[in-house]
Amino acid sequence: MNGLSEIWSVSAASAVPEAYSIPHRAVIVPLSEGTLLAGTISSISVAIGIVLLLLLVYGAIQSHREGESRAATVFWLLAVSLPLPYILGALLEFDNATAFSTILLVLSVVAVAVLAWPLRSSAKLVDDTPTSRIDERDIMFARKLLEVGTERFEQYYRENPQNLEPDDRFRAEPGLLKKGSSSYSPFSFSAANASFAAVRRLHELIDGAVASEQIAAEPRAMTAFVKKWAQKLGARAVGVTHLQDYHKYTTVGRGDDYGSQVQLDHSFAIAVTVEMDKNMIDRAPFGPVVMESAQQYLVSGTIAVQLAECIRALGYAARAHIDGNYRVVCPLVARDAGLGEIGRMGLLMTPDLGPRVRIAVVTTDLPLVADERYPERSMIDFCVECKKCAEACPGDAIPSGDRETIDGVKRWQIDQEECYILWSKIGTDCGRCVKVCPYSHPDNLLHSLVRRGVRNSALFRKLAIKLDDVFYGRIPPPLDLPQWMKLEPKDQHMVDDTEKAV
Ligand code: SF4
Ligand code: SF4
Repeated sequence: MNGLSEIWSVSAASAVPEAYSIPHRAVIVPLSEGTLLAGTISSISVAIGIVLLLLLVYGAIQSHREGESRAATVFWLLAVSLPLPYILGALLEFDNATAFSTILLVLSVVAVAVLAWPLRSSAKLVDDTPTSRIDERDIMFARKLLEVGTERFEQYYRENPQNLEPDDRFRAEPGLLKKGSSSYSPFSFSAANASFAAVRRLHELIDGAVASEQIAAEPRAMTAFVKKWAQKLGARAVGVTHLQDYHKYTTVGRGDDYGSQVQLDHSFAIAVTVEMDKNMIDRAPFGPVVMESAQQYLVSGTIAVQLAECIRALGYAARAHIDGNYRVVCPLVARDAGLGEIGRMGLLMTPDLGPRVRIAVVTTDLPLVADERYPERSMIDFCVECKKCAEACPGDAIPSGDRETIDGVKRWQIDQEECYILWSKIGTDCGRCVKVCPYSHPDNLLHSLVRRGVRNSALFRKLAIKLDDVFYGRIPPPLDLPQWMKLEPKDQHMVDDTEKAV
């Protein structure tokens, strides 16, 4: 016998000596310890089977919601197969059924224990403080603004001749958000351009006059106020750090101050992240990705200028650092403010959204309390083995090897020239690396459980990397455009001045 029926045996009253018999009533007689144990094992097996089934069905439904059809299919397949041995082993009667259920339970317990065992990172905790500062004139967003034939152009390539060849290559392409690029869409490009135009309008608000009356508050309370207000304005996470020299560019690379030394003597930096919509990023490298990044530059920029304005009104100097107008390297500031780590693709990797964020910074003299940075080595470990972004990168711009020592710091460095050349070909900011990164999955129960395991155990990390490939594909393709974006341009005609006036 096997199963729940073994726990108790029910015998007819007629089988009991007559003197004690109770006519027409059943008497329950406890069985042996062995039978009781077998019944308990069966019950536990059924319970585990049901919990497993519920978890897998939840995973399937959640994946459908996320638009991940491959993951949903895998979950459904597992839901109809994985719980079966637990449930059938307990309910069916066959030889050695109890032994089968027992072995299954023992193996399950061992597997869970091994995966849950806190095996920390093997990545060495190295001092990752940069030993040199970046000249903003060398970044691609500054180089793309150089106009052929101008003195600034000539001087830059005289001083940096190694950059001329790759820059000629991106200049030979149609360009970011330009007609003729391979992902050109008048609709998504217009939407993105509109967000960038709004960001440019914010530039006049990044700095300003400081109120003459200074209103003091206890720094801890002030920090809490600033963080809560930023979150109310739409920030996903907010962190504070002491402003360091290596956070600052050496020389301004864009705008009217081009070529001047960065002057910024504030004491603190507030880093703000905002979430980029997974639904839009999943369409990378097509139009939705650049619509989303432009929009989140606007959202993060708006939060930063509001914070800066608020702080100046309290009588303290404050400057916002937003898209197109930075004096600091935002990912470094955000990392030091405890918001994440810098991963293989060179972006800030946050614990709950991975690289699927945009960052803005406010530097200030307002007395605040800086956050602790807890280096998250599990992320570095994950990046060492994962390499998904490197394989998916259409520009071949992400290194697939181990970290190298660059300017005294062990890290990965992407090939910014190759990345930007690709952007100039396709017209969007690509974002394939962000889309495929396992850390970019939505922040819900399903993925939070995986993230918790990834943080906790090196073995779990290895398993998670393999499983991400099974559920989502090694190089997940871009999702199809949503229906509302599938509009076709009709015949174009030039609008003359008379029509414009009407
Ligand atoms: S895709 Fe993998 S290797 Fe690349 S940043 Fe994300 S976790 Fe790291
Ligand atoms: S944005 Fe595209 S080209 Fe650039 S590093 Fe990421 S995947 Fe590669």
